[in-house]
Amino acid sequence: MPIVVMKFGGSCLTDKISFKQILKITELYKNVKKVYVTSAFSGITDLLLKTAQNLEDIKDIDKNIALIEKKHIDIIEQIFKEETEYYFKVKDWIDDKLSELEDTLADIKEFGLEPYYKDYISSFGEIISTYILDQYLASNKIDSVYIPANKVIITNDEFNNAYPLYDLTNSRVEKYLIPILENPKKDIIICFTGFIGRNKIGYITTLGRGGSDYSATILAHSLYNVGIDKNIKVILWKDVGGLLAINPKYVPQSSLIKNLDYTEAKHIANFGAKILHPKCLEAIEKYKIPLEIRNFDNPLEKNFTEISEHTDVKHIKGISAVELATIITIISGSMVDVPGILAKIFKKMSKNNISVSLVAQSSSEISTSFIVKAEDSKKAIQALKNSEFYSEFFEIKWEDVAVINIIGLKVLENQTKAKIFNALDKKNIKVKSISQSYDELNLSIVIAKDRLIDAIKIIHDDLYEEFEPIN
Ligand code: ASP
Ligand code: MG
Repeated sequence: MPIVVMKFGGSCLTDKISFKQILKITELYKNVKKVYVTSAFSGITDLLLKTAQNLEDIKDIDKNIALIEKKHIDIIEQIFKEETEYYFKVKDWIDDKLSELEDTLADIKEFGLEPYYKDYISSFGEIISTYILDQYLASNKIDSVYIPANKVIITNDEFNNAYPLYDLTNSRVEKYLIPILENPKKDIIICFTGFIGRNKIGYITTLGRGGSDYSATILAHSLYNVGIDKNIKVILWKDVGGLLAINPKYVPQSSLIKNLDYTEAKHIANFGAKILHPKCLEAIEKYKIPLEIRNFDNPLEKNFTEISEHTDVKHIKGISAVELATIITIISGSMVDVPGILAKIFKKMSKNNISVSLVAQSSSEISTSFIVKAEDSKKAIQALKNSEFYSEFFEIKWEDVAVINIIGLKVLENQTKAKIFNALDKKNIKVKSISQSYDELNLSIVIAKDRLIDAIKIIHDDLYEEFEPIN
C-alpha cells in the first residue's frame, strides 16, 4: 500500500474545526498508510524560546508558562469531551511536560542558555502537540501511535540547525516505523513529532526553524530506503494552496505554480518563499519522491503545487526578490590574469561569516561585483579595506540595491531574456548587474532599490503569457 507522509503545521492545529478537518483528510486518504508529522501549535516555539531568554524575573517566567499552558488547554477543551479518559490523559501529559519545562528553565538560569538547552526547550511544542493529535485520533476510534522523533531521527551535533545522519536514521526507521507500516492486519497512523531529532549521545537537536517540513521529507527518504513499498509521497498541508509565482505583496493576482522540479523548487524556496523549508528538498530529490503543497481548508482542490521530477518548460515558474541587498564592486586593472584574487576576496567574506549570493565578473576581469545582505555590507567593506591585499590599485564601490530572480527553464531561452529586458527598458529601469550561471534556470537582475515593485510588475505584465494561467 502506498505511504503518504503528511505534515500538519501550526495553522492546521488551531481549534475544533481544524482538528475535524484532519479527520476529514484521514477519511480522504483511507486507502494509504499514513504518517502525520506535526508541528507545535501556532506561536508556541516562539513563546518557548522567549521564555528561555527572559529568566530574570520570576513573574515573567510564570506568566509565559501560564500562557503556554492556556494555549494548549484552550484547544484540548474544544476537541475532547471534558471529564473523558482522553481529556485527562492529555491534560496529565501537558502538566508533566510543563513541569519538565520548568525544571529545565531553572537549569538554564543556573548554567546559561547553551545551544543544547535551546533545542531542548523548543522541542516541547512538538512533543505536546503531536501527542494531542495522537490522542485526538484515538478518541475518534482511529488507530494511531505516538512516536517522538528523538527516538528516530539521528542528527549531527549542530544544535539549532542539525543535519540528519541518514544511515543511522534509516536503521531507526526500519526498527520503529516499518513494522507498523508494513503490518498487513492493522492500519495504524503514526503521529510523529516534527522539527526535532537527537544526536548520537542522545541530546535533543532541532532541524532549524520551520523544520517540520524537513522532518517529513527525511522520513520519506528513510522509508524509501528501508521499506518494501517505494510508492511514497509527501504532502505539506498549508494555509495556502501552494507556491505562488510571485509574492502577492508585489502582484496581488499571481498564479499558482502547479508543477516544478526539484531544482526549480530549490530556487524558489531559497529566495524567501517562506512556504517551503529550503533544505527539505534535498532529502527527497535523490529518490524522486514527489511532494505536494496543498490547501488544508480545501483538500479536494484540483490546483495545488507538485514538486517532482516532472516540470514543464513552457512557463516561467516564478519571480522572487531580495529587497535589502548591497552590491560591492572591486575594480582594478591589476586583477587581470592574476590567479587567486577572487579566492582572497571570498575568503575575507567567509572569515567574517558573510554569505555572498550573486557574483558577476566579466571576462575582462577588471571588476568583480557580488551581493551581500545589506545588514552585512559595512562589515564586508571594512574587511576588504583592512585586508592585506587591498592597495591603492583597488577601488571599492558599493550601493544598496534590490535583486530580482526569475526562475524556470524558460529563462534559458534568448527570447525570454529579450522580453525581460524590453519590459524593464519600457519603465526606464536600469539593469545594474546580471548573473546566470551555466545552464542555470535562475536569472538574477540587480536594480535600484526603489524600482523593485515597478520592475516585478512590468515583467509580470509584459510576460504574462509566459506564466502559468491564473486559475
Ligand atoms: N515549531 C517549529 C518552528 O516554529 C517547527 C515548525 O513549525 O516547522 O520553527
Ligand atoms: Mg511553526
